[in-house]
Amino acid sequence: MKKPTTWQTYLSASSFQTLFFLLLLPLWSLTAAQAQTTAPASNAGTLLTPSQFLGYPLGGNFTPHSELLRYVDHVVQNSGGRMRLQPYGRTYENRPLEVVQIASPENLSRLEEIRRNNLRRAGLESGAAKAAEPAIVWLSYNIHGNEAVSSEAMMQVLYDLANPQNQQTQQWLQNTVVLLDPCVNPDGRERYAQWYNRVRNRTPNASPYAWEHHEPWPGGRFNHYYFDLNRDWAWQTQQESQQRVALYSQWLPQVHADFHEMGVDNPYYFSPAAKPFHADITPFQREFQNTIGEYNRKVFDQNNWLYFTRETYDLFYPSYGDTYPSFNGAIGMTYEQGGSGRAGVQILKSDGDTLTLSQRIAHHHAASMATIQATAERHDPLVREFEKYYTTARTKPGGDYKTYVLAASNDPGQLESLRKYLDRQQISYGYAPRKMRTKGFNYTTGKNESVEIQPRDLVVSMYQPKSTLVKVLFEPRPALEDSLTYDITAWALPYAYGLKAYALKEQLKGSDAATARAPSAPIRNAPATGTPYAYVARWTNIQDLRFLSQLLQKKVKVRVAELPFEAEGQKYQAGTLVITRTGNENMGPRFDQIVRAQADSMGVMVQAVRSGFSTTGADFGSSSVRYVKQPTVGLVAGEGISPTAFGEIWHFFEQQIGYPVTVIGTDYLNSIPLQKFDVLILPDGNYADIYPEKSLENLKTWVRAGGKLIAMEGAAAYLANRKDFLLKTKPADTAAAKKASPYAPLRRYADSERRQIEERVQGSVYRVQLDNTHPLAFGYGSTYYALVRDTLNYRFLGDGGWNVGILKKEGSAAGFTGRRARQKLTDTFVLGTQGMGRGQVVYLADNPLFRGFWQGGKLLFGNALFFVGQ
Ligand SMILES: [Zn+2]
Repeated sequence: MKKPTTWQTYLSASSFQTLFFLLLLPLWSLTAAQAQTTAPASNAGTLLTPSQFLGYPLGGNFTPHSELLRYVDHVVQNSGGRMRLQPYGRTYENRPLEVVQIASPENLSRLEEIRRNNLRRAGLESGAAKAAEPAIVWLSYNIHGNEAVSSEAMMQVLYDLANPQNQQTQQWLQNTVVLLDPCVNPDGRERYAQWYNRVRNRTPNASPYAWEHHEPWPGGRFNHYYFDLNRDWAWQTQQESQQRVALYSQWLPQVHADFHEMGVDNPYYFSPAAKPFHADITPFQREFQNTIGEYNRKVFDQNNWLYFTRETYDLFYPSYGDTYPSFNGAIGMTYEQGGSGRAGVQILKSDGDTLTLSQRIAHHHAASMATIQATAERHDPLVREFEKYYTTARTKPGGDYKTYVLAASNDPGQLESLRKYLDRQQISYGYAPRKMRTKGFNYTTGKNESVEIQPRDLVVSMYQPKSTLVKVLFEPRPALEDSLTYDITAWALPYAYGLKAYALKEQLKGSDAATARAPSAPIRNAPATGTPYAYVARWTNIQDLRFLSQLLQKKVKVRVAELPFEAEGQKYQAGTLVITRTGNENMGPRFDQIVRAQADSMGVMVQAVRSGFSTTGADFGSSSVRYVKQPTVGLVAGEGISPTAFGEIWHFFEQQIGYPVTVIGTDYLNSIPLQKFDVLILPDGNYADIYPEKSLENLKTWVRAGGKLIAMEGAAAYLANRKDFLLKTKPADTAAAKKASPYAPLRRYADSERRQIEERVQGSVYRVQLDNTHPLAFGYGSTYYALVRDTLNYRFLGDGGWNVGILKKEGSAAGFTGRRARQKLTDTFVLGTQGMGRGQVVYLADNPLFRGFWQGGKLLFGNALFFVGQ
């Protein structure tokens, strides 16, 4: 891959020669110091290559994360003033996260100035930017943990950048700042590397049948909670993403490269990317992707390495490591090497050749170098265009809509979480100064109509530095130039948060939209007076759910009103929490303290009431004001279960509502006493092996005895059409099939992929009709925006079942749905319940917790957990 330097040759020789070399060290350092005037010469002599440092040839093994970081430390220490470490956080498993800052010694000493100048150029810091500055390139390795070649290649890249004898890299560093994240997902990488090193043969076995090529569940791709961090850039639901993107936003590089791996039989992928491109990727961004592609092509051609471009990897979904940086003004690059968690140190490919880890390292190393070189040699246009990008964003923002308005009448808790989200994205907002009538797109009705803006409505103007991101995150219907995309096709924040909102074609005059990023005051309850009869809390968002979760764990007895009521002049909806003193007497005065302290810390308003009498609706002593049991919850994980679907639920319990959950492995699920649990959650998965007939009978026996089964997506599909379960798939449309043309089966081979997508719904937003009198839909209005990813095709539940969420005609609000899928998604059951003996089955055919970012679905899951069947 790279010819060893004299230095490497010396060290790999005998110890005598090494000693001899060390004696020569001062002389050699002097030469280096002359070339790099400010490099501290005394350190430079001890820089070791990865192989020298690790004690095995690079590519001979997967290096544990702690060793990776030890090597990073070593290089930084011996970089001659070219590198500095910037720790930026910790993973869920407490591994360090850090970025290496790399620049010429001159630039490194004024790096903070370079960084601030860059933000000035973007208009995110006040003052004028200095004209000539280096370009910034950010390299992210190993975001998918089992694509583990990335961090191995990283070590060689780091060495080359630190090596003072490498004239090429030292030349590049004159006008480039490199920010290098050695391992974006340490927990996932470690899961893979430890497993691999444990099961590999002493001499790695290339047979694809060998154990070392069959990674066990859940694989190392994901982080601790099995989230795909390369789907989390925009949403930042995970600790790793939050910390990393916070740092990223302080830098805003001109180029971001993300290193990945794909299937073993594929060679290498680099830009230009495949269609669809998101419409907001600018002509310069497209063009420069090609430029970096040319640099890559050159080196891959020279080495006779195979590669492909313009296929598979598109630029549409905004939460990848290429699109998110693109919407922040960078050139976003994805690199894909064949290999992944399958390839180990060497593997036999289907074409008979052996793919080795060393080859994979060489390719990612070459792409890294080509990226830095392109950045360095074109730093001028890069920096200039970056500035232009942000100037255009502020003064001539794109798109039809110039203002997004979120009604002040929305649930305050939900608005608050959106505000926090906008703050994290450096998106400014303000408030409407007065009542105004105008025309706009109404997200709720899906129509352009006359809308009334109210004073204090939240206003997000497009005239601001982050306007591209605003557009991408808010626009109701992102333009899709081609439907063959890799991921979901709709994500607009008003739908994700379930908020009343409008998109206006005009700039809203008189609002302080572009300037204010007014932090809202934290919700605090009025100080206690006397001893109220009860506390009443509305049920509208995840904060309320956290509040309930905390109260239950503190052994506070809580009730839920199943009917709307009015008390002391206030109206309350079904689902309102009623926390009476009665039942909690044993706590004495601590009762008030606990309820208030929990409410304050969760940002929940509680009303203290003096009486148990309701002016309308049921009194607090009514049987319809039900006691909420503290459920013992089991959650199924393991072979057969979708790791991400499980992880979303696990994360929800642990990090979002803080409620205890027992994770049960599928390998022993059928041998545990289920009666120890009140609720059992079956995430999406393939249940054929988990619940063969006999085990399914045991499961039903448990439900009949009072258990609550929550079956999600694939679990619901598995139970469908089985004995005693009311969920049934719709019969095939035989009438339509008869009417079909006899030529229908004739189709062009080249269209096969396109035909498949006719059956698909690509993560589209649908308006689910809700029966909000049922506990499963408490806290919702008559509709709920669901992000539908499966062509649900269920009949409405018959006698004994409750159809709580359904799709009728015209359910689609945004996103792509194939022609055939659309037929299925008409008049279908989405979510509901059935009684079974003394227990309940809750079907969530669509997953309301998808990727942890769909805020609007969380209460629904909470309802299933705490309220259904109470
Ligand atoms: Zn990947």
